[in-house]
Amino acid sequence: MNSNEELIKSLLDRGYADERIAETMRKADRKAFIPANYWPNAYEDHPLPIGFGQTISAPGVVAFMSKSLGVKEGHRVLEIGAGSGWQAAVLGLLVGKTGHVTSIERVPELVVRANENLRKLGLGNVEVVQGDGTLGYPEQAPFDRIIVTAAGPQIPPPLLEQLAEGGKLIMPAGGSFAQELILVTKKKGKIETKSIMSVVFVPLIGKFGYREGI
Ligand code: SAH
Repeated sequence: MNSNEELIKSLLDRGYADERIAETMRKADRKAFIPANYWPNAYEDHPLPIGFGQTISAPGVVAFMSKSLGVKEGHRVLEIGAGSGWQAAVLGLLVGKTGHVTSIERVPELVVRANENLRKLGLGNVEVVQGDGTLGYPEQAPFDRIIVTAAGPQIPPPLLEQLAEGGKLIMPAGGSFAQELILVTKKKGKIETKSIMSVVFVPLIGKFGYREGI
């Protein structure tokens, strides 16, 4: 795909994006979140390297996860794994000025870069902080929506605790080479889980993730 509009059309045609998500991708162009040597590949539907052994997720995955979470205006959202900041930008546009997105990233250099990318878009309602996201962010809990963009062996228990009543969490879980995208809903304090598609993500590294060096 050669243009952002072509990419967005294909996401809409395949049912990965709806109109609201398409609109966020028109404003947050993927090209602005990737290193210049990958600009020719910006609109291809696969992950791309962003340095430090990490990747920006495939557009289809960003669209599908955002759509499955049902993010609404005014929501308070927690993301684990800011990477380039692109998914956080999409979320920031979905929640609007009355909402807020906090994204935790492990790699300090990526925290700086993701924040720069977000500032350029003028997204004042999104903040990227450094830390181990498997511990969540108790200072700002509870969250209406939680999205984990790295794959772990299990859903970190602190994230389930920090999910608001009626809230939803999405996360790839399973082995280190292939995982299932799990959608969790908290209803009357009870956790319901549903597996929605097979995916491949970089590993979630932390106290409730994998150990460093795998
Ligand atoms: N959402 C990103 C894709 C990120 S790739 C985007 O839109 O570009 C996954 C990211 O998760 C990597 O940057 C990795 O460094 C980070 N990560 C892995 N384990 C983490 C943890 N425990 N806490 C926070 N970030 C983590």
